[in-house]
Amino acid sequence: MISDVISSSELSKVDPVFGQLSFDNHEQVVFCNDKDTGLKAIIGIHNTVLGPALGGTRMWNYSNEWEALNDVLRLSRGMTYKSAITGLNLGGGKAVIIGDAKTQKTPELMKKFGEFVHSLSGKYITAEDVGMATSDMDLVREVTPYVTGISEDKGGAGNPSPITAYGVFMGMKAAAKFKFGSDVLEDKSVFVQGIGNVGEALVEHLVNEGAKVTITDISPERLEMVSSKYGATIYTGKDIYSEEMDIYAPCALGATINDDTINRIKAKIVAGAANNQLAEEQVHGKLLQERGIVYAPDFLINAGGIINVYAELENYGRPEIIRKTENIYNTTLEILEKAQATQITTHEAALEIAQERIETRKKENAK
Ligand code: NAD
Repeated sequence: MISDVISSSELSKVDPVFGQLSFDNHEQVVFCNDKDTGLKAIIGIHNTVLGPALGGTRMWNYSNEWEALNDVLRLSRGMTYKSAITGLNLGGGKAVIIGDAKTQKTPELMKKFGEFVHSLSGKYITAEDVGMATSDMDLVREVTPYVTGISEDKGGAGNPSPITAYGVFMGMKAAAKFKFGSDVLEDKSVFVQGIGNVGEALVEHLVNEGAKVTITDISPERLEMVSSKYGATIYTGKDIYSEEMDIYAPCALGATINDDTINRIKAKIVAGAANNQLAEEQVHGKLLQERGIVYAPDFLINAGGIINVYAELENYGRPEIIRKTENIYNTTLEILEKAQATQITTHEAALEIAQERIETRKKENAK
Protein backbone atom coordinates (compact mmCIF):
# COMPACT_ATOMS: atom_id res chain seq x y z
CA MET A 1 0.00 0.00 0.00
CA ILE A 2 2.62 2.51 1.03
CA SER A 3 5.11 3.35 -1.69
CA ASP A 4 5.56 -0.31 -2.37
CA VAL A 5 6.57 0.32 -5.95
CA ILE A 6 9.26 2.98 -5.91
CA SER A 7 12.18 2.97 -3.50
CA SER A 8 12.94 6.18 -1.62
CA SER A 9 16.43 6.42 -3.12
CA GLU A 10 14.87 6.41 -6.60
CA LEU A 11 12.28 8.99 -5.52
CA SER A 12 14.88 11.44 -4.24
CA LYS A 13 16.72 11.56 -7.57
CA VAL A 14 13.94 13.50 -9.29
CA ASP A 15 12.71 17.07 -8.83
CA PRO A 16 11.01 17.49 -5.46
CA VAL A 17 7.32 17.75 -6.47
CA PHE A 18 6.55 18.39 -10.14
CA GLY A 19 9.22 15.89 -11.17
CA GLN A 20 7.89 13.00 -9.10
CA LEU A 21 6.94 9.90 -11.04
CA SER A 22 3.55 9.97 -9.33
CA PHE A 23 2.99 13.63 -10.18
CA ASP A 24 0.20 13.77 -12.73
CA ASN A 25 -0.70 17.42 -13.21
CA HIS A 26 -1.99 17.78 -9.69
CA GLU A 27 -3.57 21.19 -9.20
CA GLN A 28 -2.22 21.88 -5.76
CA VAL A 29 -0.02 20.22 -3.15
CA VAL A 30 -0.16 21.74 0.30
CA PHE A 31 2.50 21.10 2.94
CA CYS A 32 1.19 21.63 6.46
CA ASN A 33 3.47 22.07 9.45
CA ASP A 34 2.76 22.96 13.06
CA LYS A 35 5.56 22.96 15.59
CA ASP A 36 3.37 22.93 18.72
CA THR A 37 1.30 19.86 17.85
CA GLY A 38 4.00 18.14 15.79
CA LEU A 39 1.70 18.06 12.75
CA LYS A 40 3.38 17.30 9.46
CA ALA A 41 0.87 16.69 6.72
CA ILE A 42 0.54 16.92 2.96
CA ILE A 43 -2.75 17.59 1.18
CA GLY A 44 -2.83 16.59 -2.49
CA ILE A 45 -5.50 18.13 -4.72
CA HIS A 46 -5.36 16.34 -8.02
CA ASN A 47 -8.32 17.66 -9.99
CA THR A 48 -11.37 19.77 -9.19
CA VAL A 49 -13.08 19.94 -12.60
CA LEU A 50 -16.06 17.84 -11.46
CA GLY A 51 -16.28 19.34 -7.98
CA PRO A 52 -14.40 19.77 -4.71
CA ALA A 53 -11.57 17.32 -4.17
CA LEU A 54 -12.79 14.73 -1.70
CA GLY A 55 -10.65 12.01 -0.22
CA GLY A 56 -9.63 10.59 3.12
CA THR A 57 -6.76 11.43 5.42
CA ARG A 58 -4.24 8.69 6.07
CA MET A 59 -1.94 8.72 9.10
CA TRP A 60 1.05 6.49 8.56
CA ASN A 61 4.54 6.17 9.91
CA TYR A 62 6.24 6.84 6.58
CA SER A 63 9.95 6.16 6.63
CA ASN A 64 10.60 9.49 4.92
CA GLU A 65 8.86 12.45 3.30
CA TRP A 66 9.35 11.09 -0.22
CA GLU A 67 7.16 8.13 0.62
CA ALA A 68 4.49 10.38 2.09
CA LEU A 69 4.53 12.64 -0.96
CA ASN A 70 4.43 9.72 -3.37
CA ASP A 71 1.51 8.21 -1.47
CA VAL A 72 -0.56 11.40 -1.44
CA LEU A 73 0.07 12.00 -5.14
CA ARG A 74 -0.97 8.45 -6.10
CA LEU A 75 -3.98 8.34 -3.81
CA SER A 76 -5.37 11.76 -4.75
CA ARG A 77 -5.13 10.92 -8.45
CA GLY A 78 -7.00 7.68 -7.78
CA MET A 79 -9.80 9.63 -6.09
CA THR A 80 -10.28 11.81 -9.19
CA TYR A 81 -10.95 8.77 -11.34
CA LYS A 82 -12.99 6.95 -8.70
CA SER A 83 -15.46 9.82 -8.39
CA ALA A 84 -15.49 10.49 -12.14
CA ILE A 85 -16.30 6.90 -13.10
CA THR A 86 -18.94 6.63 -10.40
CA GLY A 87 -20.73 9.67 -11.78
CA LEU A 88 -20.22 11.82 -8.68
CA ASN A 89 -19.65 15.56 -8.91
CA LEU A 90 -16.44 15.40 -6.96
CA GLY A 91 -12.79 15.95 -7.71
CA GLY A 92 -9.88 13.95 -6.36
CA GLY A 93 -7.90 14.74 -3.24
CA LYS A 94 -6.26 13.00 -0.35
CA ALA A 95 -4.20 13.94 2.70
CA VAL A 96 -1.44 12.18 4.59
CA ILE A 97 -0.29 12.90 8.10
CA ILE A 98 3.24 11.71 8.80
CA GLY A 99 3.42 9.84 12.10
CA ASP A 100 2.29 6.88 14.13
CA ALA A 101 -1.50 7.00 14.55
CA LYS A 102 -1.27 4.90 17.72
CA THR A 103 1.20 7.12 19.58
CA GLN A 104 1.33 10.53 17.89
CA LYS A 105 -2.30 11.33 17.13
CA THR A 106 -3.75 13.87 19.58
CA PRO A 107 -6.98 15.91 19.54
CA GLU A 108 -4.86 19.08 19.18
CA LEU A 109 -3.06 17.65 16.15
CA MET A 110 -6.34 16.65 14.50
CA LYS A 111 -7.86 20.08 15.09
CA LYS A 112 -4.77 21.81 13.72
CA PHE A 113 -5.01 19.59 10.66
CA GLY A 114 -8.69 20.63 10.38
CA GLU A 115 -7.60 24.29 10.38
CA PHE A 116 -5.35 23.62 7.39
CA VAL A 117 -8.25 21.91 5.61
CA HIS A 118 -10.42 24.92 6.43
CA SER A 119 -7.84 27.31 4.98
CA LEU A 120 -8.53 25.76 1.55
CA SER A 121 -12.13 27.05 1.72
CA GLY A 122 -13.77 23.81 0.60
CA LYS A 123 -11.53 23.05 -2.35
CA TYR A 124 -10.51 19.93 -0.41
CA ILE A 125 -12.97 17.96 1.73
CA THR A 126 -11.51 15.34 4.00
CA ALA A 127 -12.74 11.94 5.27
CA GLU A 128 -11.47 8.88 7.12
CA ASP A 129 -8.70 6.62 5.83
CA VAL A 130 -6.07 4.31 7.33
CA GLY A 131 -5.09 5.42 10.84
CA MET A 132 -8.22 7.53 11.28
CA ALA A 133 -11.47 6.92 13.14
CA THR A 134 -14.88 8.55 13.01
CA SER A 135 -14.04 10.31 16.28
CA ASP A 136 -11.08 12.00 14.54
CA MET A 137 -13.40 13.34 11.85
CA ASP A 138 -15.66 14.66 14.62
CA LEU A 139 -12.66 16.61 15.98
CA VAL A 140 -11.92 18.02 12.52
CA ARG A 141 -15.61 18.99 12.27
CA GLU A 142 -15.15 21.24 15.29
CA VAL A 143 -12.96 23.57 13.24
CA THR A 144 -14.23 23.14 9.67
CA PRO A 145 -17.37 22.05 7.79
CA TYR A 146 -15.17 20.56 5.05
CA VAL A 147 -15.17 17.03 6.42
CA THR A 148 -17.29 13.92 5.83
CA GLY A 149 -17.52 10.58 7.60
CA ILE A 150 -18.49 12.13 10.94
CA SER A 151 -20.61 10.23 13.48
CA GLU A 152 -24.20 9.45 12.60
CA ASP A 153 -25.44 11.33 15.67
CA LYS A 154 -23.65 14.42 14.33
CA GLY A 155 -25.32 14.09 10.93
CA GLY A 156 -22.79 11.80 9.26
CA ALA A 157 -23.49 8.82 7.01
CA GLY A 158 -21.75 6.33 9.31
CA ASN A 159 -19.34 3.49 8.57
CA PRO A 160 -18.72 3.24 4.81
CA SER A 161 -17.21 -0.27 4.86
CA PRO A 162 -20.44 -2.31 4.46
CA ILE A 163 -21.36 -0.19 1.42
CA THR A 164 -17.86 -0.57 0.01
CA ALA A 165 -18.18 -4.33 0.41
CA TYR A 166 -21.56 -4.32 -1.34
CA GLY A 167 -20.07 -2.40 -4.28
CA VAL A 168 -17.18 -4.87 -4.50
CA PHE A 169 -19.72 -7.70 -4.48
CA MET A 170 -21.60 -6.00 -7.35
CA GLY A 171 -18.38 -5.55 -9.33
CA MET A 172 -17.43 -9.17 -8.70
CA LYS A 173 -20.81 -10.40 -9.93
CA ALA A 174 -20.46 -8.31 -13.10
CA ALA A 175 -17.00 -9.78 -13.69
CA ALA A 176 -18.47 -13.29 -13.22
CA LYS A 177 -21.23 -12.50 -15.72
CA PHE A 178 -18.57 -11.41 -18.20
CA LYS A 179 -16.22 -14.35 -17.64
CA PHE A 180 -18.60 -17.25 -16.88
CA GLY A 181 -21.83 -16.06 -18.52
CA SER A 182 -23.68 -15.95 -15.19
CA ASP A 183 -23.38 -13.63 -12.23
CA VAL A 184 -24.44 -16.29 -9.75
CA LEU A 185 -21.52 -16.93 -7.44
CA GLU A 186 -22.90 -20.12 -5.91
CA ASP A 187 -20.15 -22.78 -5.82
CA LYS A 188 -17.55 -20.35 -7.15
CA SER A 189 -14.32 -20.50 -5.14
CA VAL A 190 -13.41 -17.05 -3.82
CA PHE A 191 -10.27 -16.20 -1.83
CA VAL A 192 -10.65 -13.07 0.28
CA GLN A 193 -7.26 -11.68 1.31
CA GLY A 194 -7.75 -9.43 4.34
CA ILE A 195 -10.94 -9.77 6.34
CA GLY A 196 -11.04 -6.38 8.02
CA ASN A 197 -14.01 -4.02 7.85
CA VAL A 198 -14.63 -4.48 4.14
CA GLY A 199 -13.39 -8.06 3.78
CA GLU A 200 -15.67 -9.38 6.51
CA ALA A 201 -18.77 -7.74 5.01
CA LEU A 202 -17.80 -9.13 1.60
CA VAL A 203 -17.48 -12.63 3.07
CA GLU A 204 -21.02 -12.32 4.40
CA HIS A 205 -22.44 -11.51 0.93
CA LEU A 206 -20.46 -14.33 -0.65
CA VAL A 207 -21.48 -16.94 1.91
CA ASN A 208 -25.12 -15.88 1.61
CA GLU A 209 -24.90 -16.54 -2.11
CA GLY A 210 -23.40 -19.99 -1.58
CA ALA A 211 -19.85 -19.25 -2.77
CA LYS A 212 -16.97 -21.38 -1.47
CA VAL A 213 -15.07 -18.78 0.53
CA THR A 214 -11.49 -19.09 1.74
CA ILE A 215 -10.00 -16.34 3.92
CA THR A 216 -6.50 -15.12 4.77
CA ASP A 217 -5.37 -12.43 7.17
CA ILE A 218 -2.33 -11.64 9.28
CA SER A 219 -4.59 -11.54 12.34
CA PRO A 220 -5.37 -15.04 13.73
CA GLU A 221 -8.15 -13.56 15.91
CA ARG A 222 -9.99 -12.13 12.92
CA LEU A 223 -9.59 -15.38 11.02
CA GLU A 224 -11.14 -17.35 13.88
CA MET A 225 -13.95 -14.82 14.31
CA VAL A 226 -14.91 -14.57 10.62
CA SER A 227 -14.55 -18.30 10.07
CA SER A 228 -16.82 -19.22 12.96
CA LYS A 229 -19.35 -16.47 12.16
CA TYR A 230 -19.78 -17.27 8.45
CA GLY A 231 -18.33 -20.75 8.03
CA ALA A 232 -15.54 -19.56 5.70
CA THR A 233 -12.45 -21.78 5.36
CA ILE A 234 -9.19 -20.45 6.80
CA TYR A 235 -6.35 -20.75 4.30
CA THR A 236 -3.51 -22.85 5.65
CA GLY A 237 -1.25 -23.04 2.58
CA LYS A 238 1.87 -21.01 1.90
CA ASP A 239 1.10 -19.21 -1.35
CA ILE A 240 -2.44 -18.13 -2.08
CA TYR A 241 -1.52 -16.73 -5.50
CA SER A 242 -0.75 -20.18 -6.91
CA GLU A 243 -3.95 -21.77 -5.59
CA GLU A 244 -6.63 -22.83 -8.06
CA MET A 245 -9.60 -20.50 -7.56
CA ASP A 246 -12.28 -18.71 -9.51
CA ILE A 247 -11.93 -15.29 -7.88
CA TYR A 248 -9.13 -13.56 -5.98
CA ALA A 249 -10.40 -10.68 -3.84
CA PRO A 250 -7.57 -8.46 -2.50
CA CYS A 251 -9.03 -6.64 0.51
CA ALA A 252 -5.90 -5.83 2.50
CA LEU A 253 -2.97 -4.08 0.89
CA GLY A 254 -2.36 -2.53 -2.52
CA ALA A 255 0.19 -3.66 -5.13
CA THR A 256 -0.34 -7.39 -4.56
CA ILE A 257 -0.38 -7.83 -8.34
CA ASN A 258 3.28 -7.29 -9.02
CA ASP A 259 6.32 -8.78 -10.75
CA ASP A 260 6.62 -11.40 -8.08
CA THR A 261 2.99 -12.63 -8.05
CA ILE A 262 1.69 -12.05 -11.56
CA ASN A 263 2.80 -15.30 -13.13
CA ARG A 264 1.62 -17.39 -10.20
CA ILE A 265 -1.95 -16.07 -10.12
CA LYS A 266 -4.34 -18.87 -11.08
CA ALA A 267 -7.58 -16.98 -10.42
CA LYS A 268 -9.86 -16.32 -13.38
CA ILE A 269 -11.07 -13.02 -11.95
CA VAL A 270 -9.45 -10.41 -9.70
CA ALA A 271 -12.01 -8.27 -7.89
CA GLY A 272 -11.42 -6.74 -4.48
CA ALA A 273 -11.53 -3.65 -2.29
CA ALA A 274 -7.86 -2.73 -1.90
CA ASN A 275 -6.71 0.52 -3.52
CA ASN A 276 -3.96 0.43 -6.17
CA GLN A 277 -3.95 -3.35 -6.61
CA LEU A 278 -1.74 -3.20 -9.71
CA ALA A 279 1.83 -2.37 -8.68
CA GLU A 280 2.36 -0.78 -12.09
CA GLU A 281 -0.94 -0.07 -13.82
CA GLN A 282 0.29 -0.41 -17.40
CA VAL A 283 2.57 -3.38 -16.96
CA HIS A 284 0.51 -5.55 -14.64
CA GLY A 285 -2.84 -4.64 -16.17
CA LYS A 286 -1.50 -5.81 -19.53
CA LEU A 287 -0.06 -9.02 -18.11
CA LEU A 288 -3.38 -9.93 -16.48
CA GLN A 289 -5.13 -9.32 -19.80
CA GLU A 290 -2.62 -11.48 -21.69
CA ARG A 291 -3.16 -14.30 -19.21
CA GLY A 292 -6.94 -14.10 -19.69
CA ILE A 293 -7.55 -12.98 -16.10
CA VAL A 294 -10.46 -10.55 -15.82
CA TYR A 295 -9.53 -7.60 -13.65
CA ALA A 296 -12.39 -5.50 -12.23
CA PRO A 297 -10.72 -2.08 -11.74
CA ASP A 298 -10.27 -1.38 -8.04
CA PHE A 299 -11.13 2.32 -8.14
CA LEU A 300 -14.45 1.48 -9.75
CA ILE A 301 -15.66 -1.41 -7.64
CA ASN A 302 -14.51 -0.03 -4.27
CA ALA A 303 -16.38 3.28 -4.78
CA GLY A 304 -19.19 2.39 -2.33
CA GLY A 305 -17.40 4.25 0.45
CA ILE A 306 -17.27 7.51 -1.46
CA ILE A 307 -20.90 7.08 -2.55
CA ASN A 308 -21.70 6.80 1.14
CA VAL A 309 -19.88 9.99 2.17
CA TYR A 310 -21.16 11.90 -0.87
CA ALA A 311 -24.63 11.35 0.62
CA GLU A 312 -23.60 13.65 3.47
CA LEU A 313 -22.85 16.46 1.04
CA GLU A 314 -25.85 15.95 -1.22
CA ASN A 315 -28.30 14.99 1.51
CA TYR A 316 -29.51 11.82 -0.11
CA GLY A 317 -30.56 8.80 1.92
CA ARG A 318 -30.03 5.08 2.08
CA PRO A 319 -32.10 4.07 -0.96
CA GLU A 320 -30.05 6.35 -3.23
CA ILE A 321 -26.79 5.11 -1.70
CA ILE A 322 -27.85 1.52 -2.49
CA ARG A 323 -29.01 2.45 -6.01
CA LYS A 324 -25.74 4.18 -6.85
CA THR A 325 -23.74 1.29 -5.38
CA GLU A 326 -25.72 -1.31 -7.32
CA ASN A 327 -24.95 0.63 -10.47
CA ILE A 328 -21.31 -0.45 -10.05
CA TYR A 329 -22.51 -3.73 -11.61
CA ASN A 330 -23.56 -2.01 -14.86
CA THR A 331 -20.49 0.19 -15.05
CA THR A 332 -18.17 -2.77 -14.48
CA LEU A 333 -19.84 -4.79 -17.20
CA GLU A 334 -19.69 -1.81 -19.58
CA ILE A 335 -15.96 -1.41 -18.93
CA LEU A 336 -15.14 -5.09 -19.33
CA GLU A 337 -17.00 -5.14 -22.65
CA LYS A 338 -15.33 -1.93 -23.83
CA ALA A 339 -11.89 -3.32 -22.95
CA GLN A 340 -12.57 -6.50 -24.89
CA ALA A 341 -13.95 -4.65 -27.91
CA THR A 342 -11.08 -2.17 -28.11
CA GLN A 343 -8.31 -4.54 -27.02
CA ILE A 344 -7.17 -2.38 -24.14
CA THR A 345 -6.86 -3.33 -20.50
CA THR A 346 -9.86 -3.00 -18.20
CA HIS A 347 -7.93 -0.47 -16.14
CA GLU A 348 -7.29 1.64 -19.24
CA ALA A 349 -10.94 1.34 -20.30
CA ALA A 350 -12.08 2.60 -16.90
CA LEU A 351 -9.58 5.46 -16.97
CA GLU A 352 -10.70 6.47 -20.46
CA ILE A 353 -14.36 6.72 -19.40
CA ALA A 354 -13.42 8.72 -16.31
CA GLN A 355 -11.16 11.05 -18.29
CA GLU A 356 -13.84 11.59 -20.96
CA ARG A 357 -16.28 12.68 -18.28
CA ILE A 358 -13.76 15.17 -16.89
CA GLU A 359 -12.91 16.54 -20.35
CA THR A 360 -16.60 16.98 -21.23
CA ARG A 361 -17.21 18.91 -18.02
CA LYS A 362 -14.11 21.00 -18.59
CA LYS A 363 -15.46 22.08 -21.97
CA GLU A 364 -18.89 22.83 -20.49
CA ASN A 365 -17.28 24.88 -17.71
CA ALA A 366 -15.27 26.86 -20.27
CA LYS A 367 -18.42 27.93 -22.18
P1 NAD B 1 -9.02 -2.83 7.57
O1 NAD B 1 -7.79 -2.22 8.13
O2 NAD B 1 -10.28 -2.88 8.38
O3 NAD B 1 -8.73 -4.34 7.10
C1 NAD B 1 -7.57 -4.76 6.49
C2 NAD B 1 -7.34 -6.20 6.91
O4 NAD B 1 -6.23 -6.71 6.16
C3 NAD B 1 -6.98 -6.38 8.38
O5 NAD B 1 -7.78 -7.39 8.95
C4 NAD B 1 -5.50 -6.76 8.36
O6 NAD B 1 -5.13 -7.61 9.43
C5 NAD B 1 -5.41 -7.47 7.03
N1 NAD B 1 -4.08 -7.54 6.45
C6 NAD B 1 -3.07 -6.62 6.51
N2 NAD B 1 -1.99 -7.08 5.85
C7 NAD B 1 -2.33 -8.29 5.34
C8 NAD B 1 -1.66 -9.24 4.56
N3 NAD B 1 -0.40 -9.04 4.16
N4 NAD B 1 -2.30 -10.37 4.21
C9 NAD B 1 -3.58 -10.60 4.62
N5 NAD B 1 -4.27 -9.73 5.38
C10 NAD B 1 -3.66 -8.59 5.73
O7 NAD B 1 -9.27 -2.08 6.19
P2 NAD B 1 -10.62 -1.99 5.36
O8 NAD B 1 -11.33 -0.75 5.73
O9 NAD B 1 -11.32 -3.30 5.42
O10 NAD B 1 -10.04 -1.76 3.89
C11 NAD B 1 -9.48 -2.83 3.15
C12 NAD B 1 -8.88 -2.29 1.86
O11 NAD B 1 -9.90 -1.66 1.09
C13 NAD B 1 -7.81 -1.21 2.08
O12 NAD B 1 -6.84 -1.36 1.07
C14 NAD B 1 -8.57 0.09 1.89
O13 NAD B 1 -7.72 1.13 1.43
C15 NAD B 1 -9.56 -0.31 0.80
N6 NAD B 1 -10.78 0.49 0.79
C16 NAD B 1 -11.57 0.56 1.89
C17 NAD B 1 -12.75 1.32 1.86
C18 NAD B 1 -13.66 1.39 3.07
O14 NAD B 1 -14.80 1.85 2.92
N7 NAD B 1 -13.23 0.95 4.23
C19 NAD B 1 -13.11 2.01 0.70
C20 NAD B 1 -12.29 1.90 -0.44
C21 NAD B 1 -11.13 1.14 -0.37
